[in-house]
Amino acid sequence: MQILVFSDIHANLTALETVLDDAGDFDAAWCLGDLVGYGPDPNECVHRIRSLPHLTCLMGNHDAAAIGQISIHSFNAEARRSIEWLHEELSVENKDYLRTLQPRETVQEVTLAHGSPRSPIYEYLLDVNSATQNFGYFNTDFCFVGHTHIPMLYELTEDRRLARLTIPRANTGMKLTARTIVNPGSVGQPRDHDPRAAFALFDPEVGAWEYRRIPYDVSAVQTRMRSAGLPERHIKRLELGW
Ligand code: ZN
Repeated sequence: MQILVFSDIHANLTALETVLDDAGDFDAAWCLGDLVGYGPDPNECVHRIRSLPHLTCLMGNHDAAAIGQISIHSFNAEARRSIEWLHEELSVENKDYLRTLQPRETVQEVTLAHGSPRSPIYEYLLDVNSATQNFGYFNTDFCFVGHTHIPMLYELTEDRRLARLTIPRANTGMKLTARTIVNPGSVGQPRDHDPRAAFALFDPEVGAWEYRRIPYDVSAVQTRMRSAGLPERHIKRLELGW
């Protein structure tokens, strides 16, 4: 069984379509949130994601802001401008869909959370200490998170007090054995200085995790962002991957 695990699409349809083509056939899709925000194609991305087979989809902080569930004042000035644009742009139907989402779910004995199991909307799991603490907030072997836009893997074995951090190597497979918190990276706005779209394929029967990076047409997205009048810094960062 192959499950597509992907996160932080951020209204980047070109990256999303490239990922879906590269993923090939999959039996289910787990989306870890932030379908919208920053990018030029919010309606197209929500529509495309909703059409995926056996979808489990989480709400991210940008999705929550897009429907007014969290204050835009928790975002910086440029992100606020982009969220205001999004408020205007997003269809009523797609806003209604985002309202149905939760930031944390358990599916097939895997915990899914946008930010972290402890604080699914807000917390960024960027260091070993906070990752170690978060192992106390879920009961399954595996927890998949997004939000940082950085592919990372934290393992907690019984003999260790602190989780071990690994940065997975792109386009290689690995096996999840210990209790693990893993982040597949971001489809539409990577922040690890690699502009390629990131995602993973997970086989729950054997615990196989295959993390992939794939180039997409960044300049096509930048052109659409410019014609939408979105902030220049958000346009530029896509080609640099941060
Ligand atoms: Zn995000």
